[in-house]
Amino acid sequence: MDSGHSPEANSGITTGCFPQAITQRCNGVQKTNPMNSKKEIIVIGGGLAGCEAAWQASKQGCMVVLYEMKPGLFSPAHKNPDLAELVCSNSLRSNSLENASGLLKEELRCCGSLIMQHADNCRIPAGAALAVDRKKFASDVTAAIESKANITVAREEITTIPDSKVCVIATGPLTSDACAAGLTRLIGKEFLYFHDAISPIVEADSIDLHKTFRASRYNKGTPDYINCPLSQDEYYMFINELLNAEKVPLKEFETLTPYEGCMPVELMAERGPETLAHGPMKPVGLTDPQTGQQPYAVVQLRQENKEANLYNLVGFQTRLTWPEQKRVFSMIPGLKKAEFVRYGSLHRNTYLHAPLLLLKSLQLKTQPRIFFAGQITGVEGYIESAAMGLVAGLQAGRYTQDGDPVSPPATTMIGGLLSYITQSASANFQPMNANFGILPPLPGRIPRKKKKRLLTERALQDISAWQKKLNKTA
Ligand SMILES: Cc1cc2nc3c(=O)[nH]c(=O)nc-3n(C[C@H](O)[C@H](O)[C@H](O)COP(=O)(O)OP(=O)(O)OC[C@H]3O[C@@H](n4cnc5c(N)ncnc54)[C@H](O)[C@@H]3O)c2cc1C
Repeated sequence: MDSGHSPEANSGITTGCFPQAITQRCNGVQKTNPMNSKKEIIVIGGGLAGCEAAWQASKQGCMVVLYEMKPGLFSPAHKNPDLAELVCSNSLRSNSLENASGLLKEELRCCGSLIMQHADNCRIPAGAALAVDRKKFASDVTAAIESKANITVAREEITTIPDSKVCVIATGPLTSDACAAGLTRLIGKEFLYFHDAISPIVEADSIDLHKTFRASRYNKGTPDYINCPLSQDEYYMFINELLNAEKVPLKEFETLTPYEGCMPVELMAERGPETLAHGPMKPVGLTDPQTGQQPYAVVQLRQENKEANLYNLVGFQTRLTWPEQKRVFSMIPGLKKAEFVRYGSLHRNTYLHAPLLLLKSLQLKTQPRIFFAGQITGVEGYIESAAMGLVAGLQAGRYTQDGDPVSPPATTMIGGLLSYITQSASANFQPMNANFGILPPLPGRIPRKKKKRLLTERALQDISAWQKKLNKTA
């Protein structure tokens, strides 16, 4: 197994302008150790992931310098000079253990997460969701980080990746342009993406297989796709609802012209009612065994993971709001009761091709002293990003002490996310949020509701056992 301590293989790093003498550059007072300790770590980006990473590394006695470009430079979405800014909704999604997002939060609490501690402290009423007072949340996290003796906050944009230090890169979905250019030099421009065009994903056992059929187009190869056939009437009703559905408005900085290959379905439908029947819903080469005929249109579902418990709607990238996706896509035959584990989206997002680049410890395979954290690793969402910060900070701290990497088991939601981003089939890698489909299935056939409860119980037991083991070896 790769311990993560192999010699650096690639030197695609620009050098020269990375701050060595951090003292003059920090707005605050330089803390005790002026970066001469072996256990020193640089964290780039003071968002949810960067703060969590800095905190976890500092808890292991490392000297951390956390670089944040605000307030000198704001991304198009960031407005608050504080660290840990929530750029959009103030909801961190469900807090319930029946929900994958709730389970992820509980695991983070179990691991001593800074972000969860302050999210819980700043909670405001929002039903089953965990919503926070965003100003207080950002201000409290900032105060915690700034008052930690072995973390120094430097308000500065980093444009080049440091050429020798242990470093956690957590610059987020809106990584500054100069830093993104530095990253492409480091990893190759084909491995850093700037937009995602995501199709919805549904749980396999929520698809009504009596209404669908398995086949590949023209019966080529194995019948890998689940095909949802639509009659002409069903197709026109679907197009009508798609056209009238509510869409997420474009942000000013997202006025992108999508590539033809990842055009939102609703935009295609606006070009003419038949466009989709000649595009992602084309039926050619597919015969419905129930009618012996080619359907009027077909939605194809493609297997998403090796466990085959998740399927994505091929070519259905969309800007419909989440409730509208649920309403309109549930009209597709076979998807009436579909459980959506990820909704479609199209937005600006800087992220890596993690399956090729990263170890499960979030280290760059070619340069193990470089760690990535947060949304840039290919997860999606506030808490998912914080979780990847926790792992990266923990691993980076261990790396400075020659400790072996210690990843949470794949049966936990944190471990499931790590497995997804580092072990997914490499072609067409797309960001993912927490969901039960990324966990290894339980043996035997178990009813859906019970399955979630059992997966949650297993995950909580395993994260707690992992934590205990970690504390013993610390
Ligand atoms: C417009 C928008 C809306 C979103 N809405 C939601 C939502 O409602 N719910 C949800 O769960 N997720 C949402 N997300 C996703 C969300 O951004 C991430 O889930 C989460 O904030 C990512 O955390 P992070 O720490 O990886 O990045 P961020 O929180 O973005 O933090 C990155 C930090 O790095 C700093 N930085 C960037 N480049 C440099 C540099 N070169 N040098 C120094 N500092 C740098 C930035 O200023 C920022 O403070 C949204 C994303 C965007 C872009």
